[in-house]
Amino acid sequence: MDHVKSWPPASQADRHAWAAPGVEDLGGGLYRIPLPLPGDALKAVNVYAIAGEEGVDLIDAGMALAQARERLTEALGEIGYGLGDIRNFFITHVHQDHYTLAVQLRTTLRGQITLGEGERINMEAIRQVAAGQSEPGFVMMLHGMGADRLADQVRELMAPGLANPQPHLDWSDPDRWLADGAVLDLRSRTLSAIHTPGHTRGHVVFHDKAGAALFAGDHVLPHITPSIGFQPSITPMALRDYLASLRLMLTLPDSRLLPAHGPVCDSTHDRVHELLAHHETRLEQTREAASAGPVTAFQAAGAIPWTRRLRKFTELDPMSQLLAVGETAAHLEVLVVRGQLARDTSPDGVDTYAHAAPPTSR
Ligand SMILES: [Zn+2]
Repeated sequence: MDHVKSWPPASQADRHAWAAPGVEDLGGGLYRIPLPLPGDALKAVNVYAIAGEEGVDLIDAGMALAQARERLTEALGEIGYGLGDIRNFFITHVHQDHYTLAVQLRTTLRGQITLGEGERINMEAIRQVAAGQSEPGFVMMLHGMGADRLADQVRELMAPGLANPQPHLDWSDPDRWLADGAVLDLRSRTLSAIHTPGHTRGHVVFHDKAGAALFAGDHVLPHITPSIGFQPSITPMALRDYLASLRLMLTLPDSRLLPAHGPVCDSTHDRVHELLAHHETRLEQTREAASAGPVTAFQAAGAIPWTRRLRKFTELDPMSQLLAVGETAAHLEVLVVRGQLARDTSPDGVDTYAHAAPPTSR
């Protein structure tokens, strides 16, 4: 990209160059600011800054961490703003790496937070979990998936304590819940919010039609496949919703892809086609895993290779196993919807899946 100024040239060999601290000038008053995340699974989260005469608007905010706040302060300084100049935080979804820094900054600054209205139910579930009134849905779901032992391992890992300090995060509501199709007039740009459920129930992308750009949040990521339905209030139809939300992107004109994790890419459509193909392959592998008779999601996950390195399920750490079992269940449910598998639920609530009997012909 010829309009990149202060960004170090990304070497093709380095998949993680995008996460290096700095400000990438994307042209037209738009900047990409990667902010740090704990752990190294995701490396960083991109905040996009849209410069205006009366302040700056941010797409996603990052995680409420001291280092992220410092980095954002420095980056905004480089483009001529202070934290007090933030007018809006437009957040793509409720996950902590996107939402929580906005809440922290709002307590002392003027910025207004906007979040898709489909996230209300997740927000309520998050607060119940934080208050100790309920377990997160993604832990409770494991029983029905035949993964009780994994659920116990995850509970142990998630228990707060000296070995697992949990930052206190503020889960206050946004200032505004955004409806599907809402138009945001930022003077320099006009964005349409498009509801794209799948990664979470209320995920939205922001489409800049005139600027041929899509602020994709975690809906379309260039290097990885987004987790499906890993959220406090789960829904068994998360993958069906996700695939529909991917196809919805193909009904928009193709545009530059501005993802929340990973580098900016030229074509949203190219990546959407790859993601759709990936899930078709996964669906086929999942259907195969059920060919030897009724299986739980846990058993099916054990028969499928995982990650880019095709690792065995048993080699994954418990949190990755949880994601893998959840993904497998989501694929099994789509196969049920497609009539390829049949689901049976035992009296104690465990789901098993088997190939559906072929329609009888007379
Ligand atoms: Zn994310």
